[in-house]
Amino acid sequence: MSLSMIINLGVIMLTFPFTATTLPLSSSSVPSSRICTRPIPINALPKMRSYNKSENGGHMAKWLNAMKAQSPPRSHPSSDESFDLFDAKAAEYAAWTENHPPILGMFEKLMKAAKGKQVAVFLDYDGTLSPIVEDPDKAYMAPDMRATVHDVATYFPTAIISGRGRQKVFEFVQLPELFYAGSHGMDIMGPADGCNGFKATGTRSKDKEGNDIVVFQPASEYLPLINKVCKILEENTKDIEGAKIEHNLFCASVHFRRVKEENWVQLAERVANVMKNYPTLSLTHGRKVLEIRPAIKWDKGKAVNFLLESLGMANSNDVLPVYIGDDRTDEDAFKMVNGMKHGCSILVSTAPKSTSAAYSIRDPSEVKQFLHQLVHWKKSGMNRTHSASSRNGQMTTPTRILKNICSPISL
Ligand SMILES: [Mg+2]
Repeated sequence: MSLSMIINLGVIMLTFPFTATTLPLSSSSVPSSRICTRPIPINALPKMRSYNKSENGGHMAKWLNAMKAQSPPRSHPSSDESFDLFDAKAAEYAAWTENHPPILGMFEKLMKAAKGKQVAVFLDYDGTLSPIVEDPDKAYMAPDMRATVHDVATYFPTAIISGRGRQKVFEFVQLPELFYAGSHGMDIMGPADGCNGFKATGTRSKDKEGNDIVVFQPASEYLPLINKVCKILEENTKDIEGAKIEHNLFCASVHFRRVKEENWVQLAERVANVMKNYPTLSLTHGRKVLEIRPAIKWDKGKAVNFLLESLGMANSNDVLPVYIGDDRTDEDAFKMVNGMKHGCSILVSTAPKSTSAAYSIRDPSEVKQFLHQLVHWKKSGMNRTHSASSRNGQMTTPTRILKNICSPISL
């Protein structure tokens, strides 16, 4: 197979009608009373999507370079030469930040813009709340980051949007008060029934514990296909050392972080050979990962919009969504947030990248710092006007979180 053929295999067409249904979930510890969703008009749901040659890079070299650029190696200066290289990279990064200013240095400006508005926080997981690690099963969330995200969710509607399976992300994060959108937003579940007067009308199901739940799963019809493709990929890549297939319910990931670079093309060929038989699935790439998902018009940006609508915040001029992510798949969300009257899109990166994000932040530790600042700002503002945690004098507790979400307090 030629390299150009491999690239062309990222091709996808959705050719059959689709309806949103709900499947039994593998497990969840979120009580049913805290979960809601709302339907999306069918005409807003997946239509046809195709990836053409240019979208996929045009040729393998370009494709591989793009993958490397998504996950640049760390600099370890240990000699004059490496110090020179480090300086050059630092200069390049500094030049890049002129167009994507570090958000930590822009916090006052952001908060000025946020005054009187309801802030909503959307967070990617891998590379944003946890460091990128060799073994994707070990991308654990640090306790202090968990505590920080908990604090954020105490004061702001907060969602985690990941390419991973929703349940997997939940196992890492373990905060039931958050919204979760797994599988690139194709598997959404969130707290609070009756948010801003909204009544949950989605399809009900039961989780492993037997709780009634309601979720929104716009790609549920693809589950058998994803199951099948995952099994084939497992079989076809088992002899490539380090390759790992991750089943994310409505999408799949082929991790090659632990694959020797000389085997990347071979792995890509194997994946592409499988994909050519499934034109209703799409193939994209992220940070040393190939992503396979239904070729429907649904992405992280759509998920953000859906969640904002669920909170009654989509069309308000008094809403300021903040989205933080590190990956190509976060670009759709950046664009969505940028398209709102007020919005703050932040790319996590230690190296210059082509991005739609308005701002930059270097790594998860800076993300934690930013989230701390956000919480501090909110607490300070509330202290100046009312009691520390609520308008009726109650201390903020996890149970108060839902009240905050259902009745947003203006900043
Ligand atoms: Mg990420």
